[in-house]
Amino acid sequence: MLTEYQMLINGIWHSGKKMIEVVNPYNHQVIGKVPQASEQDVDAAIRAAQKGVAAISAMPSHQRSKILESMSLLLTHQCEQMAKLIASESGKAYKYALAEVGRAVETFKCAAEEAKRIHGETISMDASEGAENRMGFYLRMPVGVIAAISPFNFPLNLVVHKVAPAIAAGNAVVLKPATATPLTALKMAEMLMECGLPDGALNVVIGSGATVGDWLVQDSRVDMVTFTGSPAVGKYIMTRGGLKKYTMELGSNCAVVVCEDGDYEKAAPRCVVGSFANSGQICISVQRIYIQRSVFDRFADMFIAASKNQIVGDPLDKNCDVGPMINLQEAERAEHWVREAVEMGATILTGGVRNGAMFEPTVLTNVKPDMKVIRDEVFAPVVSLIPFDEFDDALQQVNDSKYGLQAGIYTERIDRAFQAIKMINVGGVMINDFPTFRVDHMPYGGNKESGIGREGLKYAIEEMTNIRMVCFNL
Ligand code: NAP
Repeated sequence: MLTEYQMLINGIWHSGKKMIEVVNPYNHQVIGKVPQASEQDVDAAIRAAQKGVAAISAMPSHQRSKILESMSLLLTHQCEQMAKLIASESGKAYKYALAEVGRAVETFKCAAEEAKRIHGETISMDASEGAENRMGFYLRMPVGVIAAISPFNFPLNLVVHKVAPAIAAGNAVVLKPATATPLTALKMAEMLMECGLPDGALNVVIGSGATVGDWLVQDSRVDMVTFTGSPAVGKYIMTRGGLKKYTMELGSNCAVVVCEDGDYEKAAPRCVVGSFANSGQICISVQRIYIQRSVFDRFADMFIAASKNQIVGDPLDKNCDVGPMINLQEAERAEHWVREAVEMGATILTGGVRNGAMFEPTVLTNVKPDMKVIRDEVFAPVVSLIPFDEFDDALQQVNDSKYGLQAGIYTERIDRAFQAIKMINVGGVMINDFPTFRVDHMPYGGNKESGIGREGLKYAIEEMTNIRMVCFNL
């Protein structure tokens, strides 16, 4: 029987007047129905969160930590069911869905640890003349009600990256997951309530960004918006939301530089995974690969062979590498961008074929900087191989982007590694790895149009707390 899900407001599960169908993007089967939140539901969720703040911020940190630790453990026992749900609602290949659940287990665990070490510092007040008799320190206080808006491509771990640090810091959350992938988030919320989260500390409402998302971000009772999604929506939210705190985790067109002195034999298969995992629908997917001309042909041969070996098909098949894109429109957009690039002179080395929402791993060359597949975020299994002669020139091309999330450099030369670290304007530089590398406790986020602020538990907690300065006049 088809599962009907409910939304969570103030610890109570609610149905809605209208239901939204959640569809498996591979076989188009309806896998669940979720209630569409009304404006009244969103209002009730924000009110519940205001009460939730009082409850969770009054809890000692060891209790908040215990809830997060129990959740990490509970999730460990549900890995396979959660991975199946992720694969079914998002089309992500099961093996990557399983890896996502494993990461979410760690994200909760790390949040449990960080909950116990949220602290400020003392300030040497006597550094200012006239303040000799003062003693000062600051505390980190929860910001209050946080609206968390998440995308479809990591339906669990990107939700956890918002909910777990918010709870660790004593905030209450109103979560709006992507309408395409709300089931994992609802399941996660159910498990968190089982672990003893107080009523109102987490509320989940579902509906489109243009309705539910909009009601949330423009509400003055919401103290902070933590958003992961496209730059266009991120910009809109900041204009619409006015004076609030924001964390913006946005898109990119990540690049890798493969030097002749780097291990290009290791780089080629690694970059294939970085280009095509989750059908390229990862903010740190490999989109542009700059390869030193002397090793270009050898790298390209290995890269194309490994790309052709990717198993495309049913995401629930345990051998699958590449499932469908999130929907037909997105696959058609990617096809259009590739066709346009070819009309402008690009060559398809492999792939380029679409069948419904399935888009074959596609490798391009002879690309130009003004093509959409280079200039914009392709967010599809499409990657370009670009030769370079001078290392400086490659770094400049990496930087020639409105985005700045992460970059990768393959080199054995320490001077080149440091030059790249200094010159590339991104949130993270991976030496001898692809830009798709992330562990969940590292500071993670972008510069330029890739975002504002950082996630990664300790850093998200910094964003989700306000400094309260205390000054004693002795
Ligand atoms: P999206 O279209 O921007 O949607 C993201 C979320 O925002 C969804 O929940 C969406 O709701 C909601 N939304 C849409 N319009 C809104 C509005 N006017 N007000 C409030 N909320 C609104 O992004 P997506 O297609 O789901 O995800 C892909 C993008 O996310 C890519 O650009 C990718 O690079 C980026 N991303 C970034 C990171 C990172 O950490 N930097 C990680 C993953 C993804 P509905 O979809 O339900 O309408």
